[in-house]
Order: sequence, then C-alpha cells, then structure tokens
Amino acid sequence: MPDNTVFAAELAWPDYHGKVRDGAVPILLPIGSMEQHGHHMPMHVDVLLPVEFARRVASEIGALVAPPFTYGYKSHQKSGGGNHLPGTTSLDGATLVSALRDVIKEFARHGVRRMCLVNGHFENSWFIIEGIDLALRELRWDGIDDMKIVVLSYWDFVDKATIARLYPDGFTGWDLEHGGVLETSLMLALYPHLVHLDRAVDHPPAEFPPYDVYPPRREWTPASGTLSSPKQSSREKGEILLDVCVAGIVRALRDEFPDAAKPVATSESAPAGA
Ligand code: ZN
Ligand code: MN
Repeated sequence: MPDNTVFAAELAWPDYHGKVRDGAVPILLPIGSMEQHGHHMPMHVDVLLPVEFARRVASEIGALVAPPFTYGYKSHQKSGGGNHLPGTTSLDGATLVSALRDVIKEFARHGVRRMCLVNGHFENSWFIIEGIDLALRELRWDGIDDMKIVVLSYWDFVDKATIARLYPDGFTGWDLEHGGVLETSLMLALYPHLVHLDRAVDHPPAEFPPYDVYPPRREWTPASGTLSSPKQSSREKGEILLDVCVAGIVRALRDEFPDAAKPVATSESAPAGA
C-alpha cells in the first residue's frame, strides 16, 4: 500500500485519518463528465484532465486528491455540443448538487476544513457552487463554520500571453474549445495513446445565434461533436498549458490555504488513470 500517494482513496483509513483529522491537509476534488469529445478523443477527457491537475498541485502543496466525480451536468449545445449526442451521459442538476453536498459534508465530518473543487467540465460550474452553498449552510447548522472551499476551472488560469502564443490565428473563447486545441493538446501531453489526431475533423469554429432552443437544433452542432478544430493541437502546447495552469493553481491555493501542512513526499509516478 503506497504511503506516499496523493490519492486519498489509496490510503488505509488510519493513515488518511492521521492526515486530515486536524483540518490541515486540503482535499482537492476533481469534477468532470462523461461527454463525447469528437472523433479523436475518449469520453472521459473532462475527468482525466482535472484529476491530473489535482495530482500535480496536491504534491506541491501537501494536499490529497479525492476520487473524482466522473459524471457531470448535462452538455450544453454551445459549450459541449449538446446532451443529445451519443455517449454523453449526464446527471440532472439536482442530482449533482446533492451528491456534491453529501461528499463535502463527509469530508468535513472527517476533519477536513480546506477543499478545492477542480472543475474540468464547463456545464458543472453553477451546480458546483450550489453544492458548496448547501453544504456550508448545513455544516453551519452543525456548528462547523470554519470550512473554506475554493472552486476553480483549470482553463481560467491560462493568461492572455499564453493564449496569444497558443492561438496565433485568433482565440474564439473557452466555450468553443470543446474538443479543440486546449483539451487535445493537454491530452497529447499526458495521454497520447488516447488521442487519434488522424481522426480529428478540421472545421471552422461553430457559430450559434444568441439564443438556445430545446429540444436542441441538432444541425447547429458540427457533425464531429467538436466546437472548434483540434488540428492545431500539439504536445508542446499541452506542456505549456500544464505548466501555466499548475503554477497558477498552486499560487492560488498557497494564497487561500496559507496554513496548509507541508507537502507529503511523492514519488515520480506516471499520470494517474492512464
Ligand atoms: Zn471537455
Ligand atoms: Mn465538457
């Protein structure tokens, strides 16, 4: 059994208990989705990426990584192609909110007082906030008022200079990056065996009117399922994104959790979940 792992669920309970009972060790909780990501990538991209960001950040700040949420809120047509697409498998908002609230309260019961919710799927955003709000409210009813939770989406740490460097032909916004250069480059850097760039479909960025229709107008989503072309993706771009986002998240969490315990020693290991 590894005693130098950052993955909470790999620990035996006495070791876990020893780390978290006084609240000093933050828990990082990755939240993803099962969602189609075009012809060239698997459907758990939104899980693999936040798990790996959390793993890297945890080893720098002395945190533990909780088992990820592998299902998320429904794919929106303008940011994930839409929930009508084959493979995409989603939770109702109320289900995600309830499950998050439950898990946050469980970690609080263990003694955890610092958490970071590491989001990898845009559509989860407001439901994560609602889960946090309900958990904190109920914890206050139980007399626990010192829980602090940071919520972030890793792509928000990509600064303007990096965007200019990675998108020399112009940047169309994070919502259209579904299955595009951001996610594909990160996957090429971390899990190249799961990416089949030869199957990627080159197409102009999706264009949508300034309103939504339900049921979705299927013809609005490019047939590939991606919302912008992944053709300009590369492992090098993925390495740059990894460095920029990990550094940014580490800085943010050192600011927000200045009293966090010292990092646990970690071995050099391959990315998780490969
Ligand atoms: Zn994605
Ligand atoms: Mn997604």
